[in-house]
Amino acid sequence: MRRQLTIHGLVLSLAIAVNGVRAGSFETMAWYEIESRGLSGLGQRVFEQGKGQWIHARSDHFICHAGSIARIDEVLARAEYAYGRMSELLGLPDLQGRGHVFVIESREEWDRVMREAGAREEGIAVHVGRDMFVLRGAGEASVSILDVPHEMVHYRLHNAPHFRLPLWLEEGLALRFGWRVAKMYREKEGYQLTHEQPALGAEELISMRELLEAERYPGTQAEMRAFYRESSELVHAVWDNLTPDQFRAWIQATGSKGLNWAEALKTMFAFEDKDITAMLQRVEGRAVQSITE
Ligand SMILES: [Zn+2]
Repeated sequence: MRRQLTIHGLVLSLAIAVNGVRAGSFETMAWYEIESRGLSGLGQRVFEQGKGQWIHARSDHFICHAGSIARIDEVLARAEYAYGRMSELLGLPDLQGRGHVFVIESREEWDRVMREAGAREEGIAVHVGRDMFVLRGAGEASVSILDVPHEMVHYRLHNAPHFRLPLWLEEGLALRFGWRVAKMYREKEGYQLTHEQPALGAEELISMRELLEAERYPGTQAEMRAFYRESSELVHAVWDNLTPDQFRAWIQATGSKGLNWAEALKTMFAFEDKDITAMLQRVEGRAVQSITE
């Protein structure tokens, strides 16, 4: 019989779960004990780079690789929470097997990861297939609240079979739900999270047509800011007009049946052209205001 090298059950803060999210725990393990090692090329490279220094741990949906138990505790708890919440909000079924989460502490290694991942956004979390990479250097603590929830939306959507959303909708969901889930997580820890979204100048707005038809991220920082803000506002507008069940059904119809977002609202929920127009106007109206939530 194989000798078990390191098995320590550690209960996470997820034990005080809210609204039906299951209590979580993880156990550390040796590399040879990991049942699914199917890493991406980048995952393999990152693994090799830190060989001998990784601590491995397994939770319900992820295998985490980090330099310390404290990092695993923090990142894995957030990842499991975000995974569960995003599954509910988006109505996506559980993925088979576990994904990998690498916690990277060196800026230099991080820059390499972002380059190799072909990351379109500047960020502190990125994923390739079922491998997620998270930066947790010394200076990143203050911005690390949103990264895992935001990236988890991309991770869930990209790994759902036969599922594709337009770019604005995917990014709007990542921003909107990323924020929502980060806020819920912090509330669970006893903190009230608020953020201010600064007003865009009217001349900075990108047209609704450009937004809805975009297949690539815009080129300049200013356009990118507008793209993010308007995407997020449009998701917010749709969310406000539907129940959570209807919203999930709308995401499903748009993502797996390839229905146009507005056509889906019309055929499924009897929206009229004037309702769609009102939502688009609301997006432009809100984007030029500073909003604190
Ligand atoms: Zn994103």
